[in-house]
Amino acid sequence: MSLEIQQDVPLKPYTTFKIGGPARYLCTVTAPEQARDAIALARSQSLPMFVLGGGSNILVSDAGFHGVVLHPAHLGVEVEGQEAARHPETSVRLHIKAGEPWDRVVGRTVEQGWWGIENLSHIPGQSGAALVQNIGAYGQQLSDVLEHAEVLRLSSGELQTLAAGECRLAYRRSIFNSTRRGEFLISSITLSLSAKPKPQLGYRDVQAYFADRGNRQPSQRDIREAIIQIRDRKFPYPREERGGNAGSFFKNPTLSAGEGQSLEARVGARFGHPARDRLTASRSRSGAAGSSASDSVKVPAALLIDLCGLKGFEAGRAQVNPSQPLVILNQGGATADDVLCVAGHVRRTVYRETGVVLELEPELVGFSRREVNRYLGIGS
Ligand SMILES: Cc1cc2nc3c(=O)[nH]c(=O)nc-3n(C[C@H](O)[C@H](O)[C@H](O)COP(=O)(O)OP(=O)(O)OC[C@H]3O[C@@H](n4cnc5c(N)ncnc54)[C@H](O)[C@@H]3O)c2cc1C
Repeated sequence: MSLEIQQDVPLKPYTTFKIGGPARYLCTVTAPEQARDAIALARSQSLPMFVLGGGSNILVSDAGFHGVVLHPAHLGVEVEGQEAARHPETSVRLHIKAGEPWDRVVGRTVEQGWWGIENLSHIPGQSGAALVQNIGAYGQQLSDVLEHAEVLRLSSGELQTLAAGECRLAYRRSIFNSTRRGEFLISSITLSLSAKPKPQLGYRDVQAYFADRGNRQPSQRDIREAIIQIRDRKFPYPREERGGNAGSFFKNPTLSAGEGQSLEARVGARFGHPARDRLTASRSRSGAAGSSASDSVKVPAALLIDLCGLKGFEAGRAQVNPSQPLVILNQGGATADDVLCVAGHVRRTVYRETGVVLELEPELVGFSRREVNRYLGIGS
C-alpha cells in the first residue's frame, strides 16, 4: 500500500490541546516501510520531520510545522506465551504496534488477567509514544515491563531493535526525548506482563479509594476502575466540549537531598511553617527508574504552583487548572501563544519564589529556539 500524504493540514484536531497551525505535509504511516517514502519526501525538500502520535503530549505553534509530520497508524497486538500465562509464575509477552491506542491495550490486559500496566489506565495516546517519556502513574511506569522496541532510524530508514536498557528510561525520560530526540520512529514495543497478581496499591489516592469502599482485596478490574475514576476527577480527559489540555504541563522536579532541604527552608521562610509541612509530607523519595541518585527527592510541582498563588491564573483563553495546577487548560479558543504566556509566568514566578526551575513535560512543536526563550526564559 502506498503512503497517504496530505498537504497543509491543520494539526489542531490531531492534538488533545486542540491548538496548532498547519503541517506542510502529513504522512499517515500504516507500515514501518512506508516511513521511508516520507523520509525521502523530507529529504527532497530539505524539510524537518516530526513524529505525531495521539497528540496528547505536545503543543503545536500557531504558525504550525513547516515540515513533514509522520503519523503512525499501524495497529495490532501479538501475544506470545498466552497458554503458559494461564499458570501463575509465568509471564506473557505482548508485541504492540506503535499506532495502537495505549488504553485499549491496558483494557485488554486487564480482561485477560495479565498484570503490570493496570495502574497506567486511561493515559491518552499511542503505544509507541508511551515509550518516549516512559509513561508513569500511580506507582507503575513503562520501564517496569518493557523488554525491547523496534525502531526505524529517520536518517537512514533502517529498522533496528533496542533493548530496554538501551532506551535509558527514567522519570518521564528516555533517549527518545533527550539525547537522541527526533532520531527514531518507534515502530513497536514489546512488554512482559505477569500472570501472577502484582497489585500496586501504595498511592494515597488509591488506598483512600478502596478504604472508602471497604474493599481490602481489589481485583485487577477494580484497580483499573479505581484509576479511571481517580484520574477523571483530577485530570480533565480532553474532550471537544471541555476545550483541551495536554495532561501535566510541568514535570515534578527531582532535587538532591541537600537541594530538597534548602527548598524546605526557603518555603518555610517565604510561605510559613504550614506550607513547609505540606511540602515535607507530600514530596516522595524519587523512585525514578534508572536514577542512580538514591538520595534524590521528587518535589510536587503542583504544590509549588499552588503556594505561589497561581491556581486559576489566565492569559487569553488559557488557564492554570484551578483544581490540578500541573495542567494548563484550553478553555475553548486558546492559542499556543496564550498557553506559553501562562507557562512562562508560572515558571518565572515559581523560580522567583522558590528557586526551583520547572521543566515542561509536553514537546513544543514548530517554535524557534528564540520564541521558546522569549516565552519561557526565567531571567526576565
Ligand atoms: C489528560 C491527560 C493525562 C495524561 N496523563 C499522563 C500520565 O498520567 N502519565 C504520563 O506519563 N503521561 C500522561 N499524559 C501525557 C501523554 O498522554 C503521554 O505522554 C502519551 O504517551 C503521549 O502519547 P501520544 O501518542 O499522544 O504522543 P504525542 O503527543 O503525539 O507525542 C509525544 C512525543 O512523542 C513523540 N512520538 C510519538 N509517537 C512516536 C513514535 N511512534 N516514535 C517516535 N516518537 C514518537 C512525538 O514526536 C513527541 O515528541 C497525559 C496526557 C493527557 C492529555
